[in-house]
Amino acid sequence: MTISQDLFKRAQDSIPGGVNSPVRAFNGVGGTPLFITKAEGVHTFDADGKQYIDYVGSWGPMILGHNHPEIKQAVLAAVENGLSYGAPTETEILMAEKVKALVPSIEKVRMVSSGTEATMSAIRLARGYTGRDKILKFEGCYHGHADSLLVKAGSGALTMGVPNSPGIPADFAKHTLTVSFNNLDEVKAIFDQYKDQIACVIIEPVAGNMNCIPPVEGFLEGLREVCTDNQSVLIFDEVMTGFRVALGGAQQYYNITPDLTCLGKVIGGGMPVGAFGGKKEIMDYIAPVGPVYQAGTLSGNPIAMAAGLKALELLSKEGLHAELEAKSKALCEGFQAAADEAGIALTTNYAGGMFGFFFTDAKKVTSYQQATECDLERFKKFFHLMLDEGIYLAPSAFEAGFVSTMHSDEEIANTIDAAKRAFAKL
Ligand code: PMP
Repeated sequence: MTISQDLFKRAQDSIPGGVNSPVRAFNGVGGTPLFITKAEGVHTFDADGKQYIDYVGSWGPMILGHNHPEIKQAVLAAVENGLSYGAPTETEILMAEKVKALVPSIEKVRMVSSGTEATMSAIRLARGYTGRDKILKFEGCYHGHADSLLVKAGSGALTMGVPNSPGIPADFAKHTLTVSFNNLDEVKAIFDQYKDQIACVIIEPVAGNMNCIPPVEGFLEGLREVCTDNQSVLIFDEVMTGFRVALGGAQQYYNITPDLTCLGKVIGGGMPVGAFGGKKEIMDYIAPVGPVYQAGTLSGNPIAMAAGLKALELLSKEGLHAELEAKSKALCEGFQAAADEAGIALTTNYAGGMFGFFFTDAKKVTSYQQATECDLERFKKFFHLMLDEGIYLAPSAFEAGFVSTMHSDEEIANTIDAAKRAFAKL
């Protein structure tokens, strides 16, 4: 028995499923999750002392690699002054100013402690601001686990949502409308059906929770237009894409201006942080200036702000995001060439520092439907073969992969070599 196996067995006696967030349990790939003891640069280390090249990066935030010395130093310096005050600090202003400077559509920003809180609050704000109840999301997009957002499409297109989990009243879920990602015709049809009722559209501008699916040309532009025409709030959930796809997020990469933006993980440099921000006029609807309530004891926590501010400073380095995208590209092209040579049907997607690969005959994957039709058994086998090779990929076929500035050409080449050996065994 490995130490991870032993720990997992023990964990299940006192933690539901042995984990504090479901995807960590390896349910999507089978086997025992690795218990991590340390992470440094491009590597994570498990309880059995094995080292992995990590492409999960704590599910996105580790754009600069794990335990960056300057972020660590910023945290240690902040700790000297206490862990939390529940009162305003200057660091929060510096953080807000930095976010505004990097993401110009954000005129005002409110800090929270997770991505879930960011999207939940942004939705409440959009509903309060417009005085409408319905919201529109896309099949396969994940926006955290708030009731309104943990909703799947009803049977057939253009229907009201149904809860994705027990504990969510159908009466809540029915206000969440769901259509297909990358399908503007469905968006237009649902706006016709629910005229003047849709408060907002929320979207991952590059979907990262159904593998990695970038928007097709014209899709985000079309969404922007439909929202403007219908006075609905356009919310970009950039919890994953923010500061990763480009310094200014997917909105900069695709040159689309949303009304509100949700941010997460990345702005904490790995600490528990989220944020939502956007047009001044909308943001001023939030308490204490406006009537829409939203609050948080640990919001703007001084340690998290110190870590995040340093991370954003470091991420602002000229050329960093072009380098990051070159790494995604090299990895995807390497996987593709290796798969082609081995006669394995595969296609890849990437945008900036996020990537995905699909075991499918399809030339390009642009929809949730296609993502679900991929060969999931093959993914499972590949995942474990790569893990044996010391490569830690996301333990699910429905999660994007992430590169960091620390992934060197050599590590990417080693990853592609490992994939070659894995493909030969599939
Ligand atoms: N939005 C997106 C796009 C996400 O990927 C996630 C989490 N992976 C969330 C929201 C929720 O963030 P958190 O897990 O911090 O609540």
